Amino acid sequence: MGEGSQKHRVIIVGGGFGGIRAAQELAKHSNEFDITLISDQPHFEYHAALYRVVTGRSPLEVCIPLSTIFENSPVKVVEDTIQTVYPKTKQILGKDGSKYIYDSLILALGSENAYLNVPGLREHSFTLRSINDALRLKRHIHETFIDAAIGLKNGQRHPIHLVLVGGGPTGVELSGELAIYARHMAKHHHLDPNTIIIDLFESGERLLGMLDKRVSELAFERLHQLGVNIFLNTPILENRIEAVYLADMKLKTKTLIWTAGVMTNQLYSKIKGLTFNSVGRVLVDLSMQAKGMHDLYVIGDAAASMYSGMAQTALYDGTFVAENLRRKLHGRPIVSYSPRQPISAIPIGPGWAMVVTKLGLITGRLGWWLRRIADWRFFNSILPLSKAFRAFSDGSHLSETCPICSKNQLN
Ligand SMILES: Cc1cc2nc3c(=O)[nH]c(=O)nc-3n(C[C@H](O)[C@H](O)[C@H](O)COP(=O)(O)OP(=O)(O)OC[C@H]3O[C@@H](n4cnc5c(N)ncnc54)[C@H](O)[C@@H]3O)c2cc1C
Repeated sequence: MGEGSQKHRVIIVGGGFGGIRAAQELAKHSNEFDITLISDQPHFEYHAALYRVVTGRSPLEVCIPLSTIFENSPVKVVEDTIQTVYPKTKQILGKDGSKYIYDSLILALGSENAYLNVPGLREHSFTLRSINDALRLKRHIHETFIDAAIGLKNGQRHPIHLVLVGGGPTGVELSGELAIYARHMAKHHHLDPNTIIIDLFESGERLLGMLDKRVSELAFERLHQLGVNIFLNTPILENRIEAVYLADMKLKTKTLIWTAGVMTNQLYSKIKGLTFNSVGRVLVDLSMQAKGMHDLYVIGDAAASMYSGMAQTALYDGTFVAENLRRKLHGRPIVSYSPRQPISAIPIGPGWAMVVTKLGLITGRLGWWLRRIADWRFFNSILPLSKAFRAFSDGSHLSETCPICSKNQLN
């Protein structure tokens, strides 16, 4: 227990998947733990639904206030941006210098976009890592359609060219959904759907490179059927305001969507004593404590664990660390981390998904329903039933604000 306090003071930084799960698990033992969750925004973001926000669905499925998640909970929620961590004195500092003291610290800060030193990419690309990114991209796409329609009325034909770079799950999901969405939009903006081009570029030799080859081939076929042009082995070299330079190619576009680069939250690199693997993830021991440090745990995307980089892993880590903190408090032996392989469920176009399980691959409508069941199970695990249902069903609601499309509410 912390000095001068009856309870063990746990501070969790990061109100994402890992952070909220750790807080909720510890909250079950609030007689033993004093729990503070600090996050730099007042809401949790459900990243898996970001592509749906770009393509016309409600942002309410993505944004869930932390105050709702922790309503009637002993967890204290504080909105602050942590700037410095002092592991030796067990203190952390917030944006305006606020000081927080802990007995145990759980860092669950997630990841950021990485632009891999490609000139112009940071300045001129769109990304999809947050609700702000999704809304910005959506607005831009609608403005592009409005401009094209005005141009057409004035006798100028401008094909609409949406370029996605990165053939991982985000690029695959978004391009598939955009292919259908853009056709609906074209109808409402009185544009010819055949003048809309959607290109997906990948620098590697296949899409979804982290999954089985068969899965990559299937994703390729499905996107091709939906009308997405796929270019493999084609890295991006430079991005300018209205043009993108790729290996052997220059394209005129105002819409480059960058989904390929990810890096560990930069705060970790400022914490003295942490060590990192070759891709910048924090080395942790078998209890998820930062290597060589005490009472400082790193979970989720930033931890150098086998399956980090997925929400399911962050949730698993949150539960794992909470359980070990209890064991430690009671003087019981701690459990060693044993990585659990997440299930990949990748929607490609409306009502269709690929689900990769240990037992095999499930595709099509059934895959889609399995994916929706996973969404539901997640919401139900963090919210009371009625609120979980609302968040889940918000994912089906249309939310068009474009002056043209809002009149027609695309479906
Ligand atoms: C578009 C997209 C789709 C995805 N789809 C899936 C999917 O279908 N399935 C899947 O398993 N995974 C998916 N992922 C990956 C998944 O979202 C991440 O693995 C997961 O969010 C990691 O959880 P985390 O707790 O480590 O970080 P996050 O959930 O990112 O949470 C980090 C939190 O820390 C806060 N924070 C950051 N810096 C500070 C600071 N200095 N001070 C205070 N707070 C701070 C952030 O605001 C955020 O609340 C997707 C990711 C993206 C971007």
